Amino acid sequence: MPTQTAYLGLGSNEGDRAGHIQQALQRLAAAPGVQVVRTSSLRESTFVGQGPPQPTFLNGVVELRTSLLPIALLDLCKALEAAAGRTLPAPRHHPRPLDLDVLFVGHERVDTRDLVLPHPRWHLRQFVTEPLRELGVDVATMPRALAAAVIESPAAFSARTTQWLAGGCTIGLVPTMGSLHAGHGSLLTMARQECDRVVATIFVNPLQFGPNEDFAAYPRDLAADLQLCREAGADAVFAPTVAQMYDPLFCSHVAVGSAAEGMEGAVRPGHFAGVATVVARLFALARPQRAYFGEKDAQQLAVIRRMTKDLGFPLQIVGCPIVREADGLAMSSRNVYLGAADRQASTVLVRALRSARDVFTRGERDRDRLLARARSVLATEPRALVEYVELRAEGELAPLPSGPVLQGRMLVAAKFVDGVRPVRLLDNLSLVEGS
Ligand code: AMP
Repeated sequence: MPTQTAYLGLGSNEGDRAGHIQQALQRLAAAPGVQVVRTSSLRESTFVGQGPPQPTFLNGVVELRTSLLPIALLDLCKALEAAAGRTLPAPRHHPRPLDLDVLFVGHERVDTRDLVLPHPRWHLRQFVTEPLRELGVDVATMPRALAAAVIESPAAFSARTTQWLAGGCTIGLVPTMGSLHAGHGSLLTMARQECDRVVATIFVNPLQFGPNEDFAAYPRDLAADLQLCREAGADAVFAPTVAQMYDPLFCSHVAVGSAAEGMEGAVRPGHFAGVATVVARLFALARPQRAYFGEKDAQQLAVIRRMTKDLGFPLQIVGCPIVREADGLAMSSRNVYLGAADRQASTVLVRALRSARDVFTRGERDRDRLLARARSVLATEPRALVEYVELRAEGELAPLPSGPVLQGRMLVAAKFVDGVRPVRLLDNLSLVEGS
């Protein structure tokens, strides 16, 4: 069997640390298909991760020659960790008698749920790079995990997600139009916590813009977006051109029904059909287990939930809370176009919503009086050209009849016209939850 050089990270921060590592090295040396070539000295390193404070680690690196496939080497490492008394599945960020990380196996690249090679964070860990240097390894030339790749073609995107699915990974999809801010970042962070692989998509979708809307002027900044995606831990960014997304003969669309009526659906005819069409296409390409959308666009979230159910996409839609500026304005890519005076005036939306929620909290239950309260606050700001204020049922956002309401979400849209260009702002607030 051909052999190749492999490196393992060695660590222990529980019990007889040096003893656990020595025993693991002896067991490695006795394992079929494994030859221990050299071991670095062991060094103390303080724990830097999240979670409760932990005892210091003893760390080092061992160089092997092995005929084992990477996955068989991983299984051997897990067996040695278990033999040292580590409970499996091990709680994350807790002390462990033995921690064996497969760092490299030759120049192999692996990207499955259980194993990623080269180890994705080896170059960031001094307790790995120092022992490697001690063994004479030129760390500057060792392969690193690829940075989140920008994928442009739908076929390449689909091939990537197929590979992840074959490796047993769950995929989290975060569809965006780019010009990313902390609101998008929160979607990526939530996806990162819940999924093995995270994909952001950046696509300003012409199908969801009306003829007199701001498709051409929509803010775009791919370089900054990539940085945010990488910092938030995205594994790939799908950023196709319009021609790549929609070929010249493209002619199929998703029709949307009552969830898309009223509010945004009334102000922007055809908007939600365009959104649903592109999202369905992204679902088909990525085949995610979860897709993340912001409550900021509450009606969009309701339309997508409905479409997912109606068309039977086998995935979970995760709604994420609105991220706001310090003064309460809901973050939006279009906020950059607000003039200074409009920017100041723009907080009237959240003030109106909070005021209605305050009276609800104090016992007001009449739908029309709650709406009147929000309208009276909005009326104090002539710069806000209000398009609608509505109180809808939570979830599907069905219209509520006049009379008493037990719960609901108030939604508002207003236009501000004195900036670089006219900007429509949306906001909403649940009457029962704080946000
Ligand atoms: P967009 O790029 O505007 O299409 O937004 C992409 C996704 O990010 C949508 O699901 C939005 O609802 C969500 N999003 C946008 N702004 C915010 C925000 N301020 N807080 C949370 N999510 C947001």
